[in-house]
Amino acid sequence: TTRAIPATMQAIQVSEVGGAEKLLLARDVPVALPTPRTVLVRNHFAGVNFIDTYHRSGLYPVSLSPFTPGVEGAGIVVAVGPDVAGWKPGDRVAYITRPPTGSYAQYTVVPDGKLARIPPEMDFEAAAASMIQGMTAMSLVTLAYPVQKGDAVLVTAAAGGTGRLVAQLAAAAGAHVIGAASTREKAEVAREAGCSDVILYGEQDLASEVMRITEGRGVAAVYDGVGRATFDAGLACLQKLGFMISFGNASGKVPDFDILRLSRNNVRLMRTALWDFISTPEEFESLSSRTLAAVTGGTLKLLITGRYSLADALVAHQDLEGRRTTGKLMLQVPV
Ligand code: NDP
Repeated sequence: TTRAIPATMQAIQVSEVGGAEKLLLARDVPVALPTPRTVLVRNHFAGVNFIDTYHRSGLYPVSLSPFTPGVEGAGIVVAVGPDVAGWKPGDRVAYITRPPTGSYAQYTVVPDGKLARIPPEMDFEAAAASMIQGMTAMSLVTLAYPVQKGDAVLVTAAAGGTGRLVAQLAAAAGAHVIGAASTREKAEVAREAGCSDVILYGEQDLASEVMRITEGRGVAAVYDGVGRATFDAGLACLQKLGFMISFGNASGKVPDFDILRLSRNNVRLMRTALWDFISTPEEFESLSSRTLAAVTGGTLKLLITGRYSLADALVAHQDLEGRRTTGKLMLQVPV
């Protein structure tokens, strides 16, 4: 931790939007110094998230070019900017950030209100892996639609990074969790995460299977990160006053939508963004501490299935977009 901060670093840079091949490792990227209310973190791990593919492809535009992708990481604070209270060099932290100052890099400048202290028993990799997907899952089942004991809920991509954590939290809250996954192997991962039924939505009709499993009642909430391919089915299997919680677009963005469709069963629609659940330091602290406590307490069980070098970030994106993965993918940053 006392090592000098170098002038340049290795980082992934995206100079033009496009496919995974646009993720290029640069070895001479200037290390920024922290500005007011930010700290500089030397990363040990960066997490890979589906949103990174949206930044890279241009679905979610990034303001600066070139930019460094990556929305979460963990490491050691090496410098603090003016007016930072509560953080000092040497602190072990996990954080949330967004491009252009992403985490696919050896060093990242992070706002002081987006940092969490890593519990002593937790390693850097688990801490980084907990942030986006863990906090998203926690926000979905406690803030977007707070799961009630006895609810039936549907979780799409239930073997994925976020989906299996949503399933775990909903099951722990006493819900009957129905998962959806594309393969039998993924269905097994979803079952281990607490889904009592898993629908193979490539082969089975999602809405009618949910109605069959719930004996015609439908579900209290749909937690859907798949988007275009599952949105209609999600709406069709909600119970009266049910909640369609749409939080992602893994299969593409949900097309424009006629609100009259919400009148069947008086259902409610929400499109969440984690960033807006944690816009104040207090909100960030509340959600991150609850999430990290769920990991250390065993309610949330992480599953890291892929570990890539920083230079191989493009392979991680190909695997994620190719629908080949379950659980969490990580980038190991050279330290
Ligand atoms: P996942 O690990 O869940 O990977 C995506 C999964 O989506 C795939 O494994 C696949 O599971 C499923 N999928 C369905 N259709 C497709 C398709 N056409 N192409 C690729 N995958 C598909 O990723 P994350 O956990 O990182 O993210 C899941 C979703 O949640 C994303 O849409 C992401 O943007 C969103 N998200 C949103 C947040 C927010 O704040 N709103 C925060 C965090 C995540 P299967 O093969 O079983 O269908």
